[in-house]
Amino acid sequence: MGRRGDSPLFVYPVGTQRPFADLESEPMDVRLLFSTPDPERAVAVAARVCYAPIGAAELMEAMDDDAVRRVLRTIMTSGHFSALEHASFTFAIDGVSRAMTHQLVRHRLASYNQQSQRYVSYTDDPRFIVPPDVDANPAVRVAFLGACASAFLSYREAIEAGVAAEDARYLLPNAMETKIVVTMNIREMLHFFELRCCKRAQWEIRDVALRMLELASPSAPYIFSDAGASCRRGPCREGKMTCGDPYERALKRD
Ligand SMILES: Cc1cc2nc3c(=O)[nH]c(=O)nc-3n(C[C@H](O)[C@H](O)[C@H](O)COP(=O)(O)OP(=O)(O)OC[C@H]3O[C@@H](n4cnc5c(N)ncnc54)[C@H](O)[C@@H]3O)c2cc1C
Repeated sequence: MGRRGDSPLFVYPVGTQRPFADLESEPMDVRLLFSTPDPERAVAVAARVCYAPIGAAELMEAMDDDAVRRVLRTIMTSGHFSALEHASFTFAIDGVSRAMTHQLVRHRLASYNQQSQRYVSYTDDPRFIVPPDVDANPAVRVAFLGACASAFLSYREAIEAGVAAEDARYLLPNAMETKIVVTMNIREMLHFFELRCCKRAQWEIRDVALRMLELASPSAPYIFSDAGASCRRGPCREGKMTCGDPYERALKRD
């Protein structure tokens, strides 16, 4: 994929000069900021408290690793997922488009904070996400970035004319780069991964979802062992809309 610095000259509206050194965003950057310590134990203890004569604090000490695994197995095979809500992960996501975050925030059981286009004014250094199929076509790429630049110049002119950033931003394209923080509990993560790791999901949110799964898996390997698109666990749930290119099946849980 073409990256910053290797792009052809952009096309600007007649009468304007090339005002920006570069327009393309840095690559997507997804990082794990925080997570529940020992999330599998946290989930197992929360589940076990339903049937134990002792409380959760004591169970944290009393349950050995085998007991934790047995409870997790019951949860994951029975589908009694409420205990999965007791462990959560917080991710910082930078270098993504507003188009992607609009899809992300449709997942209502997560928590979000996003860079504001009301309070952050992008007067000098706008960055845009270039989709791979646009990037692969030099002529389309030039037109794409030219349109982004043109929209941005109109935005800046509106601000210079006294329009509030919150109103001027209506001019900004979906390709505009943004930053967002998201926190999800494990139950929601499994649902999110099923929908968004799927090859039917758009490339950008799929890349984010796959990276989040990669980052979360080491601390909860048993729970996340078969996470992802539905085809990892059984038949594709997309029916007639299936991509026809399933992921490799996950190993059966022990
Ligand atoms: C491939 C793909 C294509 C899409 N195309 C479109 C599209 O064309 N147009 C469009 O508008 N959206 C589209 N979406 C978004 C989709 O409709 C959902 O809004 C989004 O995926 C969030 O899913 P969710 O509601 O299951 O998840 P979440 O909001 O994360 O909720 C998780 C689960 O909690 C439960 N839940 C949450 N809120 C409620 C509630 N109020 N009442 C009852 N149960 C609740 C449900 O079981 C839900 O599945 C698309 C999504 C995908 C993956």
